[in-house]
Amino acid sequence: MNPKIEKLIKLFAKLPRVGTRGGQRIALCLLQDKTGRANALATAIVDATENVAPCPRCGVLTDRGAGVCEFCRDTSRANGQLCIVRDLSDVWTLEKSSVFHGRYHIIGGLLSGASGVLPQDLNIATLPTRISDEKISEVIFALPNTVEGKTTQHYIVSTIGDVDGLSYSELASGVPLGGDLDYLDEGTLTLAFGGRKSL
Ligand SMILES: [Zn+2]
Repeated sequence: MNPKIEKLIKLFAKLPRVGTRGGQRIALCLLQDKTGRANALATAIVDATENVAPCPRCGVLTDRGAGVCEFCRDTSRANGQLCIVRDLSDVWTLEKSSVFHGRYHIIGGLLSGASGVLPQDLNIATLPTRISDEKISEVIFALPNTVEGKTTQHYIVSTIGDVDGLSYSELASGVPLGGDLDYLDEGTLTLAFGGRKSL
């Protein structure tokens, strides 16, 4: 195989859920395309990776250097609710279901002894300041229902501690054990959110 094409396939194959066969299909599709799609794709990738960065407050990807993101700017979301999620795909899942209209906080992973993920690797340290600055009254955990998810949740609760007027809740059963939010259909997610349990 031509080494340039082989390199392209290998790069695509490493992307989530693509694999070697998928990588071959994408590479062929782009190489045979006559509409300029490969150039448009390359430009869009460079543009997004260079000009998008995590919101300094919540971690949602937003325009680099433009201050806080659309969620943090939206005053109608200053309703006292703060939803803690693992990554941006969880925000997208929750937004699609329209079940939540507060603010988000992306921690960027889960504590894991096995993988060596420590508290300082996650976006947790700023939470107490956010809670006081934004007058948060309810912290809602929407983390995966796994040992790592629960461990991370307990660590965050102990980090924030008892704050006057602050309650903690987690999504109700319905989130399958080990399941990620993006595997839930909208109906299940709405039920899990509406029936969330106090901690
Ligand atoms: Zn933000």
